[in-house]
Amino acid sequence: MGKLRRMNELPLDTEVAVRHVQPYEAVKAYRCPGCDHEIGRGLGHEVVVPIDAPELRRHWHSGCWHREQRRRARG
Ligand SMILES: [Zn+2]
Repeated sequence: MGKLRRMNELPLDTEVAVRHVQPYEAVKAYRCPGCDHEIGRGLGHEVVVPIDAPELRRHWHSGCWHREQRRRARG
């Protein structure tokens, strides 16, 4: 499997683990790859980790990740 540069280049069949981050755990701000906007501190969101490339984990707004899943499900 080739080196992935960005989450949105993940092949549709890439297995990912998703963990929900509670607001109290969100002590840093992150950039959401779904909308390219910031996920502010104290905001509950999702961490998406490719099983085969855990270093490429990304933080997503929950809504953006759910939209992305629907997009990926359609192919
Ligand atoms: Zn987003």
